[in-house]
Amino acid sequence: MALVILGKTECKICGQPVNKGDFYGFPPFVGNTLDPLIIFNDSVFHKECAKNNQLAQNALKRYELIESLNTIPPRCSLTEELITNPDDYLNLGFFTEDESHALHPYNCMVFHRKNFKTWEKNRWIISEIEKLDQSGQWGGDGLKRLLRQLKNVVDS
Ligand SMILES: [Zn+2]
Repeated sequence: MALVILGKTECKICGQPVNKGDFYGFPPFVGNTLDPLIIFNDSVFHKECAKNNQLAQNALKRYELIESLNTIPPRCSLTEELITNPDDYLNLGFFTEDESHALHPYNCMVFHRKNFKTWEKNRWIISEIEKLDQSGQWGGDGLKRLLRQLKNVVDS
């Protein structure tokens, strides 16, 4: 979460400063810059303001979903083994809430690099991420960075 200065940092919804205990704070958790929830990335907002704001409610739901998918410490989605070395850690991140999307079951999957490299679905998933990146529904370079990382592992 962004550095919060009580009485100074402004609520993303009303623009008034937040005070102790009256706000929610989010880390950067939205990768797609075209997602309407992007305004809540790395932000704070009053609990009171969130009550009547549908977008804020959606952001809280999304954040809860991502939290529920992320295990701490991380375990490889293929082998369940703990990932202890940050250099050996691949994280797909969150793709979509759309349950009919091909990538939906792969939201927030994490891998040991060696396990991703030998996973039979690795090239398929790379091609699906490419499709999403080129669909016009995804903004920012997050998927491009992810694709570079995944291809490096597969080609290593
Ligand atoms: Zn507010």
